[in-house]
Amino acid sequence: MLTTLIYRSQLDSSCHDDALNMLVEQAKQRNTALGITGIMLFNGQDILQVLEGREDRVVALYQRIVKDKRHASVVELMRDYGPRRRFENVGMLLFDLQVRSPKTVLQSVLRYSKLESYLASDDRVFKFIQSFITRGNYAHRHHDERAEAWTLTSEKHPFGEPAGLIDGQTCQFALQPIVEPYEGKISSLEMLIRGNDGGSPEQFFANLDPAKIYEVDLQTKAYAFALAKRLKIGSHKIAVNLLPMSLVNVPGAVEFLVEQIQLSGLQPEQVIIEVTENEMISGFNTFNNAIKALRGTGIGLAIDDFGSGYAGLSLLTKFQPDKLKIDREIVSNVHLSGPKQAIVKSIVSCCTDLEISLVAEGIEKLEEWRWLESAGIRRFQGFLFARPQLNGVGDIHWPHMRH
Ligand code: C2E
Ligand code: MN
Ligand code: MN
Repeated sequence: MLTTLIYRSQLDSSCHDDALNMLVEQAKQRNTALGITGIMLFNGQDILQVLEGREDRVVALYQRIVKDKRHASVVELMRDYGPRRRFENVGMLLFDLQVRSPKTVLQSVLRYSKLESYLASDDRVFKFIQSFITRGNYAHRHHDERAEAWTLTSEKHPFGEPAGLIDGQTCQFALQPIVEPYEGKISSLEMLIRGNDGGSPEQFFANLDPAKIYEVDLQTKAYAFALAKRLKIGSHKIAVNLLPMSLVNVPGAVEFLVEQIQLSGLQPEQVIIEVTENEMISGFNTFNNAIKALRGTGIGLAIDDFGSGYAGLSLLTKFQPDKLKIDREIVSNVHLSGPKQAIVKSIVSCCTDLEISLVAEGIEKLEEWRWLESAGIRRFQGFLFARPQLNGVGDIHWPHMRH
């Protein structure tokens, strides 16, 4: 099927302008052989390329481009299908914005295209081209924004040696820190439930009598608070996950939480309850009273896995949590995806206006962290910084700049 793919990149700083001409020459020959057509725009720093052709061939070519050392910071902007090519019989044509004015470049792009101009004005591909031509450089990257400038050093078990399995409980907990790398600070500790064999939350809940899930989920939080005390978390904040229906279906749920929090010598304000986006929306009306009761005690509320469900930003018209956690689905490879970047930017802007603190979850790569920091996110959770550790806090890997 005829596929159009658009990406932007930067000509690697070690390449000279003639390297670009060579790149285009090579592209012309290779693309002609593959039946791929398109154009390339260059403004002295950034590249925007449109590729059109058979899907498998376009995708294979793009994968090569991503690995090509001459392209830095390659970001996919669009992948779509269409009835016909916009640029025919042009193996690859270069439009250099350094030597021609934006207006003439735009005119000649339109002339080379087979699309009538009245159709082009509503076409996403032409809108990407037009924005690139008129908006100029996408980003003036600072050197320190590049992942290669950073490295990690580990801090050993900041809360002492982990306890191993604890006897006499129905479950265990693993802790994973949420960190603020620029501050070198632990922002909070998430407590993730584990079975008594160390098994996953999924396994733990699958082994329960379905009629008892809410009750058990609630009761296990007492172990979490007791563990926080045992680890001497001091004034750190902790986050626990809870099915919101536990607050609705179990009588006296909120009172139970407050009691257990106090028994462990914690303040309600130190505790954040995380509920997932889907749970939040599906039971919102029944859940509303429980939220009020919870807020009345000082316990915080976070929306978990934001972006993985079907609610999206409209959820924030009904309810604004203290904290919002962006799901790993959006975070993963965010540095390579234009759509993911646009979504993160809109979440950041929304949460900034509403004073909701943001956490990005599931960070595994320095590149993801770098991009998210540059978009204004300061708090992170993920294997890159620290893995969940049973009954303790594992090593934390703090990033710092190479010298
Ligand atoms: P969650 O609350 O979103 O927790 C984060 C999950 O992502 C954890 O999985 C954690 O181990 C994993 N994770 C963290 N960083 C990374 C990373 O960099 N890469 C990858 N691939 N994964 C990462 P876990 O512990 O298996 O928990 C899964 C889910 O189970 C949790 O997702 C939460 O929704 C639920 N859960 C955990 N504890 C409880 C609980 O006490 N009650 C309830 N109702 N649900 C719980
Ligand atoms: Mn969570
Ligand atoms: Mn999550």
